[in-house]
Amino acid sequence: MSKWKILLQYIKTKRRTFRSRTDLLAYQNRKIKSHLEYIQQNSPFYADLLKPYQKEINEHRWDELPIIDKTIMMEHFDTFNTVNIRANEAFKVAMEAEETRNFSPKIRDVSIGLSSGTSGNRGIFLISDQERAIWSGTILAKLLPSSIFRKHTIAFFLRANNNLYEAAGEGRISFHFFDLLDSLESHQKRLNDLKPSIVVGPPSMLRMIADWQKQNEVEITPQKIISVAEVLEEIDQRYIEKVFQQKLHNVYQCTEGFLAATCSHGTIHFNEDLVCIHKQYVDKEKGMFMPVITDFTRTSQPIIRYQLNDLLVEKKTACSCGSPFMAVERIDGRSDDLFYGIHTESGEKLPIFPDFLRRAVMTAHEQITEYKMVQSHLDKIIILIKGKDDQTEMEQEVKKHIWRLYDTLHLHRPQLIFQMYDETPSHIKRKRIESRLQEKP
Ligand SMILES: [Zn+2]
Repeated sequence: MSKWKILLQYIKTKRRTFRSRTDLLAYQNRKIKSHLEYIQQNSPFYADLLKPYQKEINEHRWDELPIIDKTIMMEHFDTFNTVNIRANEAFKVAMEAEETRNFSPKIRDVSIGLSSGTSGNRGIFLISDQERAIWSGTILAKLLPSSIFRKHTIAFFLRANNNLYEAAGEGRISFHFFDLLDSLESHQKRLNDLKPSIVVGPPSMLRMIADWQKQNEVEITPQKIISVAEVLEEIDQRYIEKVFQQKLHNVYQCTEGFLAATCSHGTIHFNEDLVCIHKQYVDKEKGMFMPVITDFTRTSQPIIRYQLNDLLVEKKTACSCGSPFMAVERIDGRSDDLFYGIHTESGEKLPIFPDFLRRAVMTAHEQITEYKMVQSHLDKIIILIKGKDDQTEMEQEVKKHIWRLYDTLHLHRPQLIFQMYDETPSHIKRKRIESRLQEKP
């Protein structure tokens, strides 16, 4: 990973300003045009798909190009990517990393990631070292509270370490990875020792840290707190902001890209200097839409007119920060709950982050296409799965994976009740990990 490439991207991002929306769109048009040329030459899938659309491409009519999604991408994976990586080879490498918790899976200079399951079926994501440098430089430019040449101590709470995030730790910036699987006491101790200037994590974790701060179990004075990976609920936002006496920042980021971040005024803006966004309206009057994204910096695995399942609400009024980037009022996707389990020794009730549960189901069996989990009691979980394979076999595998997760966390194994998956005729994301505990610990 080249430090210089990251720095160069940082400077580019900082310097690039757009006088107006027209200015921005002209920039996007230039970028997308040359990006599509490259992709058509290097991805057999896109060469075929875009062949009948040369007129639209020449006239910059991007919103008339065909839309794809994760299912289509995974079906054509081998001809889709431009770095000659086969789906089965990539899956093998990614699954091995999940099993061994050695998160540095790579094929040549391309990092392999298992997608975080915001849609039911699983996917593979590729990112080259070059793309990683661009990603790191941009994220630092947009999120550091002061210059990159200052000292920054970043505490990053994540489900798993991987190449993508380690890349950003350069120079005077030190990156400290907190594995969400580690014990809460170790998190508290490390936070107190580290005194991070920036804390990044899922809102459920940030809320817990705010609790600790309030109860004097930790004493930290971060300059900036950033919520990632899960939907930030207003109730959590208000609480965290109150405890730390500062604005909580929000990043909309997934395996498909670094999509949006809050500005100094607290509004979420799309990173339209990297990604072009089209809106698929679900309810135009309410301004609800699903984004179709075109990332013109991603070449190994092109993200062109790619539909996400997240539900967003547009902002009707302009943001007073003056940014020409599209603003959103709210992101409604990915709103899963925390589950709780009972520690085998201490008897304490401990949280299980939704991402772990998602992973456990997703990695259990390759034929699972949809699922839902409901925690009805502390010791009882209802699981609904749908897939092309033998139901009993899929259930056996899911059971094995869930129990392994509980064992790893030293929690009593819950009773698992399998039921038929009921189909609801909606492509809008619904809650997959749902808690119906009467009394939340
Ligand atoms: Zn703004």
